[in-house]
Amino acid sequence: MTLIAVPISVDDTATAHALAAQAAEHGADLVEYRIDTFTDPAAVQQLVAASPLPCLVTARAAWEGGHCDLDETDRISLLEHAGLGSDSDGQAGITPAYLDLELAAYQKSANIRQKIGLVVDHPDQPRPDVSTGLILSTHDFDTFPNDLDRRVLAMADAPACRVIKAAWRARSLRDNIDAFELIAQRLKPTIALCMGEAGLPSRVLAKKFGAHLTFAALDADSTSAPGQPTLDELKNLYRWDAITPDTRVYGVIGWPVGHSASPAFHNAGFTATGYDGVYLPMLIPPEYEHFKATVIRWLDHAPLHFCGASVTIPHKQNLLRFVEEQGGEIEPLAAAIGAANTLSRRPDGSLYAGNTDYAAILGATREKLGDDLSHKTIAVLGAGGAARAAVAGFAAQGANVTVFNRTVAKAQALADEFGATAKPLDDLAPFDFALIINCTSLGMHPHVDATPVVFEDAPHAHRPTVFDTVYNPKETKLLREAAAAGCETINGLEMFVRQGAAQYALWTGHEPPVDVFRAVLEARAK
Ligand code: NAP
Repeated sequence: MTLIAVPISVDDTATAHALAAQAAEHGADLVEYRIDTFTDPAAVQQLVAASPLPCLVTARAAWEGGHCDLDETDRISLLEHAGLGSDSDGQAGITPAYLDLELAAYQKSANIRQKIGLVVDHPDQPRPDVSTGLILSTHDFDTFPNDLDRRVLAMADAPACRVIKAAWRARSLRDNIDAFELIAQRLKPTIALCMGEAGLPSRVLAKKFGAHLTFAALDADSTSAPGQPTLDELKNLYRWDAITPDTRVYGVIGWPVGHSASPAFHNAGFTATGYDGVYLPMLIPPEYEHFKATVIRWLDHAPLHFCGASVTIPHKQNLLRFVEEQGGEIEPLAAAIGAANTLSRRPDGSLYAGNTDYAAILGATREKLGDDLSHKTIAVLGAGGAARAAVAGFAAQGANVTVFNRTVAKAQALADEFGATAKPLDDLAPFDFALIINCTSLGMHPHVDATPVVFEDAPHAHRPTVFDTVYNPKETKLLREAAAAGCETINGLEMFVRQGAAQYALWTGHEPPVDVFRAVLEARAK
């Protein structure tokens, strides 16, 4: 079983215990009392003795990224006191579940090893009542340590060491695989964690690989290392309790990717249908070489069960190139659009790249305009990625498409590719069309007062259906004004639901829980 430990930076006992009680209530197994600046030995013993949860005690030295500036003799003596424990009468008593000590400190002197050896459980411990386990730890806050293997072997060889802990700053998503491999060596129970945004998979998937524990913060302000998720995120967003060694891994590949709604969306879907999957943000720098190297490493690491990804800006072209190079299948319209947003690894291992954006646009439109879109007059506003998907999708249905864009040359180039007409954005006469679809970013948060269309007051027999692909906010100025002018509307949230639902169906083979997806996005849009 992989434990969840919540770090608590201790200033006073009462507050630390209140926070530990909160951690217990929200499902933590352990608290890590960081006593870097709480250095009275008797107070530390009381802290441990009355702890609401089993605890790990750490006095992280400043030279290893902590805040403890005691001299080394005093710091080791503090840990020794914590390890001896005391009950309320000051008698030897309740001790921590674990003490953490840096490998570098442990290796420094026989005296330190002897002192720590007196208060932790190990094969040569003469006292049968000693149960505290020693976590030997090593950290690199800048990069992957080149001598990590040597450090890990030293921890494994140390007789007093019960648990190996290695933490380093992830250089890229690929470093997570090194962490998984380290855990899988099983030299001893192991904690292997990558710091930084790219290191999140090592924290969430610690349970999949059988790590000894992972850390989660009580709230976003109390993380003890960069990239650490909160307890709520770990449990409720990333499905901690459902993760098993067989759990399939999916993600959203982008740069940046931190604010994507897709992890909440797909993980809620997995939970609703009981599908054994977890979905993570996957931060990959824009260049193709990064995309290729990372996706190959994740696909090649068989125990990871990496089965697919949503792919967003700036990687939609990279995905097409990658799947083509790997000899996979590309959906023909995705190839025509020149962008794909979905990667899927099929059960036979082959790769597939598709574009669910255009299918989402067509599906939502058909619900209002009917199945047959041929000869319908459609105004596509914009000439970027979303507009390409719309123009290609509608043109393939035989619709009569006009592309309106601020930069007319871009509109013309797009129109020429798909047999459409191009015009400047300012020339739009909204009542000439059956459908207007906004594929510009106008009206998107925070510029919520912008809109690409002006509806005049004059009465019109035919009113267009107005579709805004912008989904934040849900009701844009464009949609409000369109509704006021008597038009039917389709919001960008509907498109998001449909493109994500199509990905879900492709990956899982199950009926997508669209009501759940809609509810997740509605809740985020508030
Ligand atoms: P993109 O490739 O960067 O294209 C942006 C488009 O917006 C370009 O045509 C650009 O015109 C135009 N534009 C930007 N600022 C403008 C301004 N101030 N005035 C007039 N035109 C302006 O972006 P994209 O990937 O196509 O995304 C466009 C929108 O689609 C975004 O708002 C996104 O939220 C939405 N989208 C929604 C979904 C969904 O599931 N609902 C999926 C994908 C995209 P120029 O060519 O003149 O620069």
